[in-house]
Amino acid sequence: MRVSVFGLGYVGCVSAACLASLGHEVIGVDVNQVKVDLVNDGKAPLVEERIGELIAEVVRAGSLRATTDVREAIMDSEVSLICVGTPSEPNGSLCTTYLERVTEEIGAAVAERGGRQTVVFRSTMLPGTCLNLLVPILEKHAGGTAGVDFGVAVNPEFLREGTSVRDFFDPPKTVIGELDPASGDVVAALYDEVPGEVFRVPIPTAEAIKYADNAFHGLKIGFANELGAVCRALGVDSHQVIDVFLADRKLNISPAYLRPGFAFGGSCLPKDLRSLVHAAQRADVSVPILSHVLPSNADHLQRAVELVERTGRRRVGLFGLSFKPGTDDLRESPLVELAERLFGKGYDLRIYDPNVNLSRLLGANREYIETRLPHLAQLLAESVDEVLDHAEVCLVGTRDPAVLSALPHGDGTVIVDLIHLPDAEARRAEPGYVGLAW
Ligand code: NAD
Repeated sequence: MRVSVFGLGYVGCVSAACLASLGHEVIGVDVNQVKVDLVNDGKAPLVEERIGELIAEVVRAGSLRATTDVREAIMDSEVSLICVGTPSEPNGSLCTTYLERVTEEIGAAVAERGGRQTVVFRSTMLPGTCLNLLVPILEKHAGGTAGVDFGVAVNPEFLREGTSVRDFFDPPKTVIGELDPASGDVVAALYDEVPGEVFRVPIPTAEAIKYADNAFHGLKIGFANELGAVCRALGVDSHQVIDVFLADRKLNISPAYLRPGFAFGGSCLPKDLRSLVHAAQRADVSVPILSHVLPSNADHLQRAVELVERTGRRRVGLFGLSFKPGTDDLRESPLVELAERLFGKGYDLRIYDPNVNLSRLLGANREYIETRLPHLAQLLAESVDEVLDHAEVCLVGTRDPAVLSALPHGDGTVIVDLIHLPDAEARRAEPGYVGLAW
């Protein structure tokens, strides 16, 4: 199929490259010229396992190219996937500005071209957004009726940054919210070769399923971290507790997101919880459990700050800055928040994150760092040793092998383990080891 993908961020880039590798002819569209140029050069505008090789391969084969020109993309495709961002507004509600703008542009281009286009929304959006907000915009600008003159579907994305290419080819599920069966058929054909169960549901159901996923993931992490904190205070090994808890086959609970570790963050869980709670409040629905997931997460982050304070040392090294290992994504990273708190308290801080450094070198996250995090940019080190030479206390929030193999043992440096390191059991016996997630 000939596919246009709007938004070459984490979701759009992975979708575009993976669809191209399945044999579709893909054109990616972004307003950001740097991302478009990187893709056309066969380079990934993000750091993620396998994405660099995949983009190089499909661009070389001629099955993926990128442009900033919406009209060109619509002329050259029969199905469009919308993957633009839906961040939080300052009051916690969902920002639909990018979705509205891209929908207008696509509508206008569809009107000009004629013929049936299927417009598929992959961005996360609250139930009702597609039918009540976006379909009317499309109908106005395309000059036709949705489900008759053009197709509309919602196809939420369930990738996890760090393993997103793997997740694309082996997804936990494929959800297709369809306006009409013909629209759903187009989306199903796109993923013909992808394994796993396909759920064809009404559009608002598809929108809500994504929130069920992300709210539950946040809830599980919060549960595990609170359990970890209580166990730690009572001198109990929370990982042993969780291991046995999960071994109960009758409970049949997935271990995903249930390991006591660091606070969660990123561009999805916090903002999706925020907008879900905001929507519940507007609808006058009391949601005390969902309302307390983010405060619980904030408390966990504060525990990490207190662990550092208790060491009484001032020269701090932080390993890891992105919101989790395996990605360069800094949006709402709890490690950024931790760094900012320590920096604000006057700690002498150095930070090392190889994925963030690589992304900065490529230019992918350079603008984000320079505009949003200039205060941390000056603290970024080029090597593990630069941080080790500086630090009296090392905070470890990454599983990068180069960091793990270089971490000292019992040389007087305090190791604050934020994520339960692979060798946490052995390290526990060493003086100077402090685990946030025991
Ligand atoms: P992102 O910010 O990384 O990428 C969005 C891209 O859209 C940016 O490159 C931006 O320049 C581009 N864009 C904005 N307006 C545009 C326009 N008018 N035309 C073309 N491009 C435009 O966002 P993301 O992390 O890929 O997330 C996209 C959506 O997918 C969000 O709704 C998010 O909630 C959802 N989602 C994200 C993930 C994830 O792990 N990142 C997982 C599942 C779902």
